[in-house]
Amino acid sequence: MAKEFQFDLTGGQLALDLANTVSRRGDPERRKEHLESYRDLLVFARQAGVISPRQAGELHNYAEQRASQARRSFKEAIQLREAVYRAFSAVAQGKPASAADLQLITDSALKALQHRSLSRVNGGYRWEWEMKGSNLLDRILWPMSQAAADLLTSEQLRIVRFCEAPDCEWLFLDHSRNRSRRWCDMTTCGNRQKARRHYQRSRG
Ligand SMILES: [Zn+2]
Repeated sequence: MAKEFQFDLTGGQLALDLANTVSRRGDPERRKEHLESYRDLLVFARQAGVISPRQAGELHNYAEQRASQARRSFKEAIQLREAVYRAFSAVAQGKPASAADLQLITDSALKALQHRSLSRVNGGYRWEWEMKGSNLLDRILWPMSQAAADLLTSEQLRIVRFCEAPDCEWLFLDHSRNRSRRWCDMTTCGNRQKARRHYQRSRG
């Protein structure tokens, strides 16, 4: 089996990590899609902690039996991702999210809520996502829609940033003390940018 792709989870919040599952978005020649199928989506969801490895296994088997349903869930996930990306990149640039994107996120989050229930854990209660029903394959979408709605309504909305590396276009939460983080990831984009600037300087 091919080695599993490792998603870069530097966004700091699930919705942003989802948005960042495309690399070099703005460059048609070098654009890299990391979600090609429902199976990729499962890998992302597991790595991001949205589902447990056991649930990923269950969903994987379920999806194998229901290819057209899996394709539909996958398509919905990509639509959600694109709306999330557009909404939060607008926000990062000080602009409002579009009405159409807000509507898509609203609809998706409302649908997700119907699949949540309170369950008793260690003497207390917590919200849990259903792991049954005819739209079981959408299970991985629900926490993502919820995460997008949560971030839109949270204080953290003000620290959503756009990576400054021109070919990156990833989003992240800037938790730095003076709100001055400029790159999604210092070791990749940050160093690349510094090297480029150095190169431009040395050429005069
Ligand atoms: Zn970057």
